[in-house]
Amino acid sequence: MSSLGASKLSLSSITTETLWKRSGRYSENSELLRLKDRKKSGFLLSPTHEEEITALVAGIANSYKDLPIRLYQIGRKYRDERRPRKGLLRAKEFLMKDLYTFDYAYEQGLGTYESVRKAYKNLFDELRIPYLVAEADSGSIGGDLSHEYHFASPSGEDIVWSCNSCGYTANEELVEKRVNPERRVNTGVLAFTTISADHNTAIRIIIPAPDSLSKDHVSTPRIHDYVNLHALNRAGIDIDSSLEPQALSVLLAKTKRSVTIHDRSLPQESNILPLDLTVTRPGDSCSRCASGELDSQPAIEVGHTFHLGTRYSAPLNALVTTPENTEVLMQMGCHGIGVSRLIGAIASLLHDERGLNWPRIIAPFEAVIIMTPQVSEEDGIALYDMLRSGGVDVVLDDRASKSVGWKLKDADLIGYSVVLVLGKSWKTSGSVEVQCRRLGYRENVKEGLEKTVCELLDRL
Ligand SMILES: [Zn+2]
Repeated sequence: MSSLGASKLSLSSITTETLWKRSGRYSENSELLRLKDRKKSGFLLSPTHEEEITALVAGIANSYKDLPIRLYQIGRKYRDERRPRKGLLRAKEFLMKDLYTFDYAYEQGLGTYESVRKAYKNLFDELRIPYLVAEADSGSIGGDLSHEYHFASPSGEDIVWSCNSCGYTANEELVEKRVNPERRVNTGVLAFTTISADHNTAIRIIIPAPDSLSKDHVSTPRIHDYVNLHALNRAGIDIDSSLEPQALSVLLAKTKRSVTIHDRSLPQESNILPLDLTVTRPGDSCSRCASGELDSQPAIEVGHTFHLGTRYSAPLNALVTTPENTEVLMQMGCHGIGVSRLIGAIASLLHDERGLNWPRIIAPFEAVIIMTPQVSEEDGIALYDMLRSGGVDVVLDDRASKSVGWKLKDADLIGYSVVLVLGKSWKTSGSVEVQCRRLGYRENVKEGLEKTVCELLDRL
């Protein structure tokens, strides 16, 4: 955040529902933790702070000369999570880093967005854990102005698709495949009848029959398994897909209007909206290159960059004057990193049966010195000073009441990157046992101890 010239601030966790009603997010967000004060006025515990910060900046910036403004905070956020689980990965309270950016013109806003992406890349690169940057749905704004940062992980609840040839990566909502013309010659179609979200219109969806259908024809095909509901949603067609078959037929009987939507691969004269309505399957062709195939993997989302444009400055009337002395709405961006989720994700990715394993950059200390009864306090301090002056972020475990075995286990649990055991050989030959569990390293080191430790740390 410093590299972006962003200033740190701290906003209240409690905000008024009035602001959220102005932005239109109050009613559409079912995960708000709402509360009333003694006068029965409505408040909420903020899950993010776009409204609050837009109102704040609208009050202090009047001219393009006051911009850009870049503000961030690291604070507690709240969400009325339906299914809190997996510890830090999904909780009602979480720690988040959120950055908000303000520019006066679209081009400047895009420049800011690119700078933020670069800063995020630097941050995730430093963790030395492979990560995916997925194109994400930027809603009504369009373009590729939203990106998600993911760790591939079996415990992830998101799905990320990647091409095995060109590097195209996108989330489940946005992924686009290419239509293979040869597949159009297949046998038939599959039709679903569903209902609009307002229950007024019957919606018939027709897609080509998938090859896999014959295998599981025993049960009635479910719309979720075959129709890309995200594509419908993006096209502004909201359906109620939560209904049981019986409830659906009762409602369908009452509808007066009906619409039929065909998949883009089925040539229809009336097909004004060429929608890709079939779900993406592993092995589908990539939409961005000639030969690549798409595959999916579960992932944990740990960061998100988002160019907002005037999504919040318009309803909250955040204006500045331009060099031409006209008034424009500020161009905004919001950019989050789930701090507590990042910790949980890294813990789940790098732990083993003995404990945690932190990347060097976020380890509580890069190294720990474990004292044994064979050495004196002076020996411990001498080694500690030596490593400190060599630039190693080290801690001395001099708890005399604990056994060496206990301290070693504790060091493994905590997940220090490097463990140094200061024992008898320090007295006899001046050597120290150096361990690094993640790299499978365990040696008695006599010469060049700092160098050895630094070389190990460089690989973590
Ligand atoms: Zn590709």
